[in-house]
Amino acid sequence: MSGAIVLGNGHVVTGWEDPTVISEGAVACEGDRIVAVGPEAEIRAAYPAARYLDAGRGLILPGLVNLHHHFYSALARGLDPGVEMLDFPAVLDRLWWRLDRALDADAVRLSALLSAADCVRWGCTTVFDHHASPSFIDGSLDLVAGAVNAAGISAVLCYEVTDRNGPEGTAAGIAENLGFLRAHIDDPRIRGVFGLHASFTISEATLDTVAESRPPGTGVHIHVAEHPVDDRFSRETFGATPVQRLQRHGLLDDRALLAHGIHVEDEDYDRVAAAGSTIIHNPESNANNGVGRLDIPRAAGHGCAIGLGTDGMSSAVLRALRFAFLGLRGGAEDPTLGFETVPRLLATNSRVAGRFLDEPLLGQLVPGAPADVIAIDSSPPTFLGSENWFGHLVYGSSEAPVRHTVARGRVVLDDFRHTTLDPAGLASEARVLSGALWARFHELSWNTPFLGPSADASKESLR
Ligand SMILES: [Zn+2]
Repeated sequence: MSGAIVLGNGHVVTGWEDPTVISEGAVACEGDRIVAVGPEAEIRAAYPAARYLDAGRGLILPGLVNLHHHFYSALARGLDPGVEMLDFPAVLDRLWWRLDRALDADAVRLSALLSAADCVRWGCTTVFDHHASPSFIDGSLDLVAGAVNAAGISAVLCYEVTDRNGPEGTAAGIAENLGFLRAHIDDPRIRGVFGLHASFTISEATLDTVAESRPPGTGVHIHVAEHPVDDRFSRETFGATPVQRLQRHGLLDDRALLAHGIHVEDEDYDRVAAAGSTIIHNPESNANNGVGRLDIPRAAGHGCAIGLGTDGMSSAVLRALRFAFLGLRGGAEDPTLGFETVPRLLATNSRVAGRFLDEPLLGQLVPGAPADVIAIDSSPPTFLGSENWFGHLVYGSSEAPVRHTVARGRVVLDDFRHTTLDPAGLASEARVLSGALWARFHELSWNTPFLGPSADASKESLR
């Protein structure tokens, strides 16, 4: 248990749903809990011996949550696959599925550390990571968890089960999820969820095994209809949409995390809403891959909960939020959109993280909540109140650096300085290690069948 900390001299925004804004406010933490929130003078008088962190008149916010990340993508920056990628299935096959097969233990460890350091840097204190390393499966989640622990943040981790690497890969992926889930069932900061790649690379038998073997109360974290190929292949091969397949196998429930959810019909949005599942919007990734854009008002209109992720593009959640906001307006050619639906993404993220970590107050700056608090280096130049906090966030503060990150009462970013990890040292190590990783990558072939080498080749079109 660490001593008391007061994070003050800032504008405290107490949460993401009807927050209170305290313009000269402070937050006090003791151990891993928030113990008091209020006017600066009162908090400092009540905690005179506490360590003081100066927010520099910036925003003091709850620690951010990222619902969909891929730590393993950290060493892909600048990698040229050396082959054309004309559509999203080709991007998967020729870039990501080659990269994940090239990852060894060192690459998994280092990419996780780099990404975890980036989470700290951008004020993300809880991250949902979706991991894949088919050449090194057994024990891979322990390495990712080691990086999360070293950073001092919280996480919900999974291994991506898929049939595309053959039956041994499927079995090893399932075993890796099960072992990790059981080992972390009571962990206060790091839990598991059952990872699945996407409907188009998972057979009926594998979904049966997942449904039968997952411990009660375990959710699944899966890509759903990121590109039309997922929907088309699932209908042609299994006679059902990706959402219908999850439902038929009893996997569509209030812990199901559905990344993307773009190419989804109205009836399936109704199914998602009725089940209480969460769609995770990844706007920067969707734009980068040219796969289309989630129609947030449409999905929300069906009652779907929608959260926000970065999908390995970065660890900067507030930048993804700004991109979601602008993408919604730009894509719909409608400057009135956004204020109704986009702030709710942050609220959904916190609610979902709280559900997985058994922390119902996560994402709120209130006494008793986990001490996940950040200060953004952005002093509001105009009035900031409970009615316009989101405008300040999306039009300015989302672009500002984070000054302090406090994760479960531990100062992991102190006046812009990392206290747990050394990003410059990690980058030096990564520049050496990534050379070997890229060399292995370039030796690997592509044209991976969706359901593995033994599947019916006639159903393995990449289009
Ligand atoms: Zn993803």
